[in-house]
Amino acid sequence: MRRAVCPGSFDPVTLGHLDIVERASKIYDSVTVAVLVNKTKSSLYTVAERMALLTQVTAEYGNVRVDSFHGLLVDYCKDHEIPVIVKGLRAISDFDYELQMAQMNHGLAGVETLFMTTNPLYSFLSSSLVKEVARYGGDVSTLVPELVHTSLTERMARP
Ligand code: ADP
Repeated sequence: MRRAVCPGSFDPVTLGHLDIVERASKIYDSVTVAVLVNKTKSSLYTVAERMALLTQVTAEYGNVRVDSFHGLLVDYCKDHEIPVIVKGLRAISDFDYELQMAQMNHGLAGVETLFMTTNPLYSFLSSSLVKEVARYGGDVSTLVPELVHTSLTERMARP
């Protein structure tokens, strides 16, 4: 069984994330989307909410499961016998940091990182940008799954 993990914050999941997860699901038998529990980073959605959104929008792929992790990603990979991390590369600005992480993860535990180039439609897209645009009433309906758009609209309307 060929397994891979797509890690991230997913606060919330965007069409950029989903594009990478869908393409990974066609290459691997089983893909785990792993939500990083980061207590220092302030987030819009709780980990449970992010996982619930991810579970619904990835259900159609059939071989994608959603989980959360804290601590080192390579420890999660070892515990779950996952040899490959799949990441999306948006721009050259992502590369520097991703290269360091990939080399560290390989050095620590022999876990490989596979980079997929982003779909050009989503190369500028990040969760933080989506939140910022939505916060000021901008239209993000073409950037996130419909379910997330509905949720964001409702959340931003809260006093
Ligand atoms: P962000 O807040 O920047 O969206 P995440 O930590 O949620 O970051 O993203 C997790 C991973 O998903 C990133 O490391 C990257 O590999 C991938 N990713 C995020 N946005 C995109 C995108 N627009 N296109 C391709 N890959 C993406």
